[in-house]
Amino acid sequence: MTRRAPRLSSRRVPGASASSPCTAPAVGGRGGALPSESPSRRRVGLPFTPPGSGAEEAARRARGPMGWRRAGRSHAPWSASGAGRGRRSGKAIMKKPRTAVRSRHRKQASRQEGREKRVLSSSQVKPPTPNGLARRQEEVVLQASVSPYHLFRGTAEVRAFRENLLRWYDREKRDLPWRRRAEGEVDLDRRAYAVWVSEVMLQQTQVATVIDYYTRWMQKWPTLQDLASASLEGVNQLWAGLGYYSRGRRLHEGARKVVEELGGHVPRTAETLQQLLPGVGRYTAGAIASIAFGQATGVVDGNVVRVLCRVRAIGADSSSALVSQHLWSLAQQLVDPTRPGDLNQAAMELGATVCTPQHPRCSQCPVRSLCRAHQRVEREQLLASRSLPGSPDVEECGECRPQPSPALSGTCSGSLIPIYPTTWLSLCRAGPWPALWAWHLSSPGLRGTWGSLFPAPGSGQCRLCAPPSEPWDPTLGVTNFPRKASRKPPREECSATCVLEQPRAVGGPRILLVQRPNSGLLAGLWEFPSVTTEPSGQRQRQALLRELQRWAGPLPATRLRHLGQVVHTFSHIKLTYEVYGLALEGETPVTTAPPGARWLTREEFHTAAVSTAMKKVFRVYEGRRPGACKVSLLALSQPSFSRPESMGFQ
Ligand code: SF4
Ligand code: ZN
Repeated sequence: MTRRAPRLSSRRVPGASASSPCTAPAVGGRGGALPSESPSRRRVGLPFTPPGSGAEEAARRARGPMGWRRAGRSHAPWSASGAGRGRRSGKAIMKKPRTAVRSRHRKQASRQEGREKRVLSSSQVKPPTPNGLARRQEEVVLQASVSPYHLFRGTAEVRAFRENLLRWYDREKRDLPWRRRAEGEVDLDRRAYAVWVSEVMLQQTQVATVIDYYTRWMQKWPTLQDLASASLEGVNQLWAGLGYYSRGRRLHEGARKVVEELGGHVPRTAETLQQLLPGVGRYTAGAIASIAFGQATGVVDGNVVRVLCRVRAIGADSSSALVSQHLWSLAQQLVDPTRPGDLNQAAMELGATVCTPQHPRCSQCPVRSLCRAHQRVEREQLLASRSLPGSPDVEECGECRPQPSPALSGTCSGSLIPIYPTTWLSLCRAGPWPALWAWHLSSPGLRGTWGSLFPAPGSGQCRLCAPPSEPWDPTLGVTNFPRKASRKPPREECSATCVLEQPRAVGGPRILLVQRPNSGLLAGLWEFPSVTTEPSGQRQRQALLRELQRWAGPLPATRLRHLGQVVHTFSHIKLTYEVYGLALEGETPVTTAPPGARWLTREEFHTAAVSTAMKKVFRVYEGRRPGACKVSLLALSQPSFSRPESMGFQ
């Protein structure tokens, strides 16, 4: 007896007319939208789940067997049969295109895999990163050694976090151009490109600043192919003022690599993205893979660090390797397999708009009920108001109760185990099991080196809590988390730079700019001739003059004037520019500059690939010109002046 297929073709989708056009064959046809990429699917608010991803299967399960009905009749595969057609004929029509789609996907995926393997086997890839499995194993090992206080326990807690956060995100998310673009884009490579550009621009840069740059960028280079065919000069020009200039250069290199070596297809997983694309680290790879391709992979950026450190009361140095590993592990645990991109964006959005560094708005926070930092504040307030010795209702990190440390007790009664000709290991039972077992290394060079074998349980050394030397500060509230070790101050350097101008050049005033080397700080950007030198003095002037003459030939040295200072801080360098000016006399023709130098008009200068620091330098020069009004002098952006001299213009 043959089993009958369910009578699905006779079901009517509510609200769908009997004459609805059959779209199923088009789905499988050349150039038709993939089922999971259908715009109408997106319109009805179903999560995007790309084919072949684990998320697709999870989404299918979450939607249940009748999930298709929400997507409208056109997506019901049996609708192809139409009225009057038999079930068998309907099946025959449907099976072929679906099979064709799957087979085409398989072929495309295997071609792409082949390309990626070829590139991976070439010498031009980054050192291998731990793959997903190895990372998960590390996470399991780490989680096993961590106090439950710093973990999400059980699926109920994880589910509550996801649901609260996603509900809030759906309601409150900001309307940003990259979100609009990614959500409305059906082509996966275009979508990945839109996400990639935004993620690179947003590194270390405020959203408000990025919006304008992003919009101009996407207007100029709407696709990867457009960017790949652009010049580096053009990229630097558009990036000017955004800072961290190597980001733009790497993005350009990455686009060229995708077009020239990967057949125009962006790698589809976080691991391959990180390994194959220049400038794409673990965070950017995870963001592209989850937002553009629906891969269920968590991400950790500065906002997520703050949110997770507060939600799980992690008070140890948030930039340490251990905390970082733990945060990645939490992010991976929290990511929603049906909406990974949205969950990741929601966590970042929460950090950017609610759980802010200085003034978190806990009363409006969707995950407040799960937040240990908030619970700690409430407990401290309760204790303060009632003067109670403790509150049994609020959980604490059980690992952080003060205990005597065996490592510091200095007693060792264990037998010595030789581990090197001159070094012995001693295992000492210095207290009750298991907390107070310790090891002790003895050798001429290591005399007195102690450590605890079991530092975590009950030993007072939880590695995720703040050290005892940094106790809870009640005035800070939840902003006790996260903590950062004090950063090394930036290195101080000094540079002398000169605006060399021909004020009466034929065709209007011109200023000289030279190009920086193609690697290192501000690589490839244009600047006024500069020398790195001692802070001040005659030797600085002479060195600068020699540099100017290298580019512009003999110059009247007496006209070189010191105008002031500009201090600009890069990520790791605090650079003080000693600003000089030199205006050439007479009606000089524009001399042809040697390669690597250009005479530019003022208008050209303002649109050239120059750094913000050079724009500040130019404002100092403009402010010291004869005829510059007081207002323009006052409007100069924070340069500090010292020993200004007159310019000596004619
Ligand atoms: Fe939310 Fe406040 Fe906790 Fe941040 S600290 S996650 S804003 S409750
Ligand atoms: Zn702890």
